[in-house]
Amino acid sequence: MSLRLFNTLTQRVEEFTPADGHTVRMYTCGPTVYNYAHIGNLRTFTFQDLLRRWLAAHGWKLDHVMNITDVEDKIIRNAGAQGKTIGEYTAEYTRAFLEDAAALRLQRPEHLAPATEHIPEMVEAIERLEERGFTYRSDGSVYYRIANFPGYGKLSHNDFGGIRPGARVDVDEYDKDDARDFVLWKAAKEGEPYWATPFGNGRPGWHIECSAMAMKFLGETLDIHAGGVDLVFPHHENEIAQSEAITGKPFARFWIHSEHLNVESQKMSKSAGNFYTLRDLLGMGHSPEAIRYLLLQVPYRQKLNFTFDGLKAAETAIDRLRAFELRLKTSQFAAGASTALSAAAAAASGRFTEALDHDLNTSAALAAVFEYVREANTAMDAGLFRAGNADEALDLLARFDAIFDVLRPQADSGGMPDAEVERLIAERTQAKKTRDFARSDALRAQLQEAGVILEDTKDGVRWKRK
Ligand code: AMP
Ligand code: ZN
Repeated sequence: MSLRLFNTLTQRVEEFTPADGHTVRMYTCGPTVYNYAHIGNLRTFTFQDLLRRWLAAHGWKLDHVMNITDVEDKIIRNAGAQGKTIGEYTAEYTRAFLEDAAALRLQRPEHLAPATEHIPEMVEAIERLEERGFTYRSDGSVYYRIANFPGYGKLSHNDFGGIRPGARVDVDEYDKDDARDFVLWKAAKEGEPYWATPFGNGRPGWHIECSAMAMKFLGETLDIHAGGVDLVFPHHENEIAQSEAITGKPFARFWIHSEHLNVESQKMSKSAGNFYTLRDLLGMGHSPEAIRYLLLQVPYRQKLNFTFDGLKAAETAIDRLRAFELRLKTSQFAAGASTALSAAAAAASGRFTEALDHDLNTSAALAAVFEYVREANTAMDAGLFRAGNADEALDLLARFDAIFDVLRPQADSGGMPDAEVERLIAERTQAKKTRDFARSDALRAQLQEAGVILEDTKDGVRWKRK
């Protein structure tokens, strides 16, 4: 089946393939590095990782750009208050963001683009808008005249027919009721960092940043542009107005927006003060895998209500899958294969694919896997599971984990690789067979030191990590 995604622009679920048939050219709005990301922000980025992985599972190559917003009002204010340059100030939070992303196993985009490294591209984009008559200057700043762009409102599906021409706004974020000419280039105020340009000393507005960098790396029409729902207006509406005024072509074919993470029905945000960072949760002893699972289990177009009970349930779900995997790897099954179980594995695999193809329905994909695991465990208890079924089960888990990536415990990254654990266990089993107990005890001690716990069962040796 083909991949279908909900497109904010058309308000429909549409079949997706990259325009050139091979490579998905995707732009996602990245973090503003003025503080640690909270897990609401990280839900958005974790969803984008899922999207990446599922596109790759379709056999497409990815060319993905994520920007890093490293110059804006809050950054300038905070850096100034700490007596730092904006570069010094943002370096720390950029590093923290990359660490958080790695802990959550987010694949690195092909390009990470800091805004401050692309000022000339932004200046050029503004110049092109000036040439085409979409701008005006006032008090050293340059503004975009939205009345000159007839398609304004097409992404957020608002009719801005009644707007007051000439009313303008200097801030980057504002409400729908307040559609106004927005700033492309902001004149520097006393004591602020600035770049010297033909329009005067200043810095770019937030919206031009993304238009300029997206087109630099990915060309005039992207396959996918994604971000959190709060970016639909004004940010993405303004990106369309800028890019399409310059090129006369559609800026992105698919606009994909993920819903917010809430805490007690309120959006998690830094300004509301109701937020947890990843560091907060890891510090409480929660695993990054459980947090990743929690963030992914609710389909991306539904709000996700964060609770600690939900996090516990995510931990339990991962434990179940890991226990099942361990059972598969360490039990002795009779030869052959049960056809009923083979059919169950094939059905689960098909449902997993269909669920993700249907606008990335993660909860239905997880349900397919868990239903199969329940059936397989019951068959094992009844002695009906066969060696041939184990391979099918491991294949399903591998397909699941290529997307969800939660089975490998965190310790694995620095610990003994699975293959080495298996090899030492086989050697220990052999030593026991030849009654070389000194050797088998030494091997158990070696594994224990590496954090691996062995359990001798009637089906053979099972192991897990501490
Ligand atoms: P920022 O670092 O503030 O620029 O935000 C980075 C990303 O996080 C944006 O795509 C926002 O849409 C997204 N975001 C902000 N708050 C939340 C939230 N509570 N839940 C999910 N995503 C969010
Ligand atoms: Zn953006």
